[in-house]
Amino acid sequence: MITLRVTPRGAERWVRGHPWIYRSDVVGDASEPGLVRVTDARGRFLGQALHSPRSEIRLRFLERSDRAVDRAWWRERISAAADRRRDIDADAFRVVHAEGDGLPSLIVDRYGSYLVAQLLSAGLETMRDDVVGALVDVLTPTGILLRHDAAVRRREGLEERVELAWGTVPEQVEVREGTIRYHAAPWTGQKTGAFLDQRPNRLAAGRAALPGGRALDCFSYHGSFALHLAARSGTVTALDVSADALARGADNAALNGFTNISWVEADAFETLRAYERARERFDTVVLDPPAFAKSRATVPQALRGYREINLRALRILAPGGSLVTASCSFHVHRADFLGMLAEAAADSGRRVILREILGQGADHPEILTIPETGYLKGAVLTVSG
Ligand code: SAH
Repeated sequence: MITLRVTPRGAERWVRGHPWIYRSDVVGDASEPGLVRVTDARGRFLGQALHSPRSEIRLRFLERSDRAVDRAWWRERISAAADRRRDIDADAFRVVHAEGDGLPSLIVDRYGSYLVAQLLSAGLETMRDDVVGALVDVLTPTGILLRHDAAVRRREGLEERVELAWGTVPEQVEVREGTIRYHAAPWTGQKTGAFLDQRPNRLAAGRAALPGGRALDCFSYHGSFALHLAARSGTVTALDVSADALARGADNAALNGFTNISWVEADAFETLRAYERARERFDTVVLDPPAFAKSRATVPQALRGYREINLRALRILAPGGSLVTASCSFHVHRADFLGMLAEAAADSGRRVILREILGQGADHPEILTIPETGYLKGAVLTVSG
């Protein structure tokens, strides 16, 4: 195995709890991706890391000791991650959240008896057989799909394609989330087939829904929030620009025997404005838009977008009504988001109570020293008058 040296600044990052070392902090060069030994500038052993020769992120810290990182090692780490998820009341959730579980660049999501994995670095790709083997040993899935169509693979010099790695994986998998059932689409759906990160927040939305009330789910995708709202509400309107996503939402409603959801193909910005003008009132509103800020530079513009939809949503709430609102933009930090909500509340002219601050589910652990592990933030707000 080759040995790479890192600068004192690089070594310091590891000591302070961040697993990445950038190109400029690696002394010398190696052309092959894979597992490497890492030492400090004086040659003292620091640990083993995944090496990506073409990426800005050159090293991802994996193991402190010099023990072999083999299939048995992966089995141990994957079992530990699975054990941390024992209490989850769903059969679709994230089993491995990469750096959040000490397994940099590895994502593994479970959909019933199927797994969808992503190996997102060149270093990890070289260990594919051991990773897939360990997943089979520990989680005994019926099939493992690699959703390697993720754009970050390009920065690592890796191919982007979807590939079956083990067994069989169907086009659609029926899964359960609390009392709700829905179909995930592992081969073609967003992310690895569904938005698993919002799981506990969908349960929170279900609890916030007024029994028998009128609910609105904007940016509904295949209706994940709408289904939880429908279990308690009188009627639910689910909005999305994607007709295809809404059609799958309607199938999901049928799966649960719900007949109280209407599926509306429309732009959420325009529709919220129209509802406000028409003085429509809802008891529960959910806002779960796509990431408006794709980079740091677009944060101000994104915040204007978030403020606009949150303002409209607050204005159309009936007295005592609740808004469940979220942002999955990594670049919009929790404090920015809460500040934006305060401004929307001020503009709305209503008294707004902060009931709950939301984040990612426990299956997407956010590590305080690794900001990149956290991106989802949200809140439950109630208007008192
Ligand atoms: N709430 C969903 C995930 C939403 S993802 C869940 O928990 O599963 C964001 C969705 O917003 C996508 O389905 C996308 O089609 C939709 N979308 C994007 N721009 C939109 C717009 N301007 N108006 C309405 N929907 C939009």
